[in-house]
This record gives sequence, C-alpha cells and structure tokens, in this order.
Amino acid sequence: MHIAKNDTVEVIAGNDRGKRGKVLKVNPKSNRVVVEGVNFIHRHTKARRQGEQGGIIEKEAALHVSNIMLVCTKCNKGVRIRTKILADKTKTRTCTQCGEMIERRS
Ligand SMILES: [Zn+2]
Repeated sequence: MHIAKNDTVEVIAGNDRGKRGKVLKVNPKSNRVVVEGVNFIHRHTKARRQGEQGGIIEKEAALHVSNIMLVCTKCNKGVRIRTKILADKTKTRTCTQCGEMIERRS
C-alpha cells in the first residue's frame, strides 16, 4: 500500500471530496485508512446509567485507498505517485507530476 500513517492525503470521491487530512490509521488488509477530520460517522448513544450522558458521538470512519490521493507538497494537490525500490531496498515514493520525493513520516 502506498499510503502510510501521518501522510497528508486528499479525498477524491464521496461526500468529503476535496478535503485534506492526516492519515491516522492504515489497514493494509482491507486497503482502508482513517483520515483525520474526514468521513465522520454519527453514532447515537443512550444514557444507560443515571448520571451518564447520552448523545451523538462523532468518529472518523475508514475510507478505501482508492478514494484518496497522496498530497504532493510541491504541487500542492493530490497526485499519483510512483513507487521505486532503491538498491538498499528502501521504498521511495515520487510524485508523477513533478518528480518530488514524498517521504514517509511515520
Ligand atoms: Zn508533485
């Protein structure tokens, strides 16, 4: 998967299209990521005990990686990336638009 934790990504599909956020969680098995401030779901909770407060809990739901793009800081937009494996086996990701390397911050 080309998206890693702490990446800045842009949403390219759905209700949150155009929104940007930081990747909080990555699930490589399901190809889903949780992005900060994006794709909120509302869960209604009821007060179960006395003194407990019921209400609405807002929480980010996971998005499929196909719905997001990595943001290139140089292009300042969501871009396609190219993955290259160097001689020492480190993986690099470069922007296909400007060739800038996008480092992993996790
Ligand atoms: Zn770029």
